[in-house]
Amino acid sequence: MGRMNGYTKLTGLLGHPVAHSISPLMHNEAFKITNKNYVYLCFDAKEEELEQKVEALKQLGARGWNCTMPDKIRMYELCDFLSPAAELIGAVNTVVNEEGKLYGYNTDGVGYMMSVQEAGFQIIGKKMTLIGAGGAAMAILVQAALDGVKEVSLFCRHGKSWNHAQEMTQRLNKETNCKVRLFDLANKELLKKEISESAILTNATNVGMAPNEDQSIIEDPTMFHAQLVVSDVIYNPRETKLMKLAKEAGCPTFNGLYMLLYQGAEAFRLWTGTDMPVAHIKEKYFREKE
Ligand code: NAP
Repeated sequence: MGRMNGYTKLTGLLGHPVAHSISPLMHNEAFKITNKNYVYLCFDAKEEELEQKVEALKQLGARGWNCTMPDKIRMYELCDFLSPAAELIGAVNTVVNEEGKLYGYNTDGVGYMMSVQEAGFQIIGKKMTLIGAGGAAMAILVQAALDGVKEVSLFCRHGKSWNHAQEMTQRLNKETNCKVRLFDLANKELLKKEISESAILTNATNVGMAPNEDQSIIEDPTMFHAQLVVSDVIYNPRETKLMKLAKEAGCPTFNGLYMLLYQGAEAFRLWTGTDMPVAHIKEKYFREKE
């Protein structure tokens, strides 16, 4: 954190659990480096407590906050205004408090798109195959469509998220220039065909996340092709089994670490109007080998 005095502005994280989060480290260090008189704290909030805790932060004049699961959807309902991406996604992970009016944003998708750039790839005007239909997948899907990815083939299982994925697909086809198509993940032939036409494959499910490192959403290495970039939103472990299999098949890969960094950088910019010193934060907290 930077200097603290009577003028210090409050920001923080709401969610359950939150104590393990890297966000306080990253934001307080960034406030210090940029000499911003802000502080970032963690506030444990279960979904049913969110409204009360948001009201308390408003009363205290907090500048803004992040929300993590399970609060992102309820937070969306509590905002007075929404960014186009937050409105489409139906979830808010960053709030800016402008004199008691709450502006809701979703920076997860921005974070992902920045991480693609950071890894050295260009996917605007190209085709993406995206797996998953939860919060991370929807944020990536919406931002990709808004940013100008030409086509997204979305694969998910015929489970609880299917209907929502279907609604999102229809809405994005109507409201953006991106051509979005939804497929059943069980159809491996179609998955292979769509991947063969894609510049990037993204896993946005939690399959392969610790402690289930031995799992991969794709097990068959013939699904990959040499021109394909393979990315995972997971950052624990740093190299998922999916990434390992893709690497063995000759594909460049990257994980979700910089998605996490850049969703925070975007929130920092929204609160302070200043860019986060990402090179410094990266070096201090986001080293690949940890
Ligand atoms: P979520 O809302 O619970 O969504 C999980 C998705 O994975 C759902 O679509 C679920 O399908 C699907 N899924 C789970 N197991 C599956 C399986 N065996 N086969 C096929 N699909 C399966 O979770 P989330 O918030 O999107 O998070 C997903 C992952 O992204 C987590 O690992 C999280 O840590 C990571 N994440 C990373 C960042 C970052 O900054 N890097 C940000 C957000 C999230 P059903 O709906 O059918 O259950």
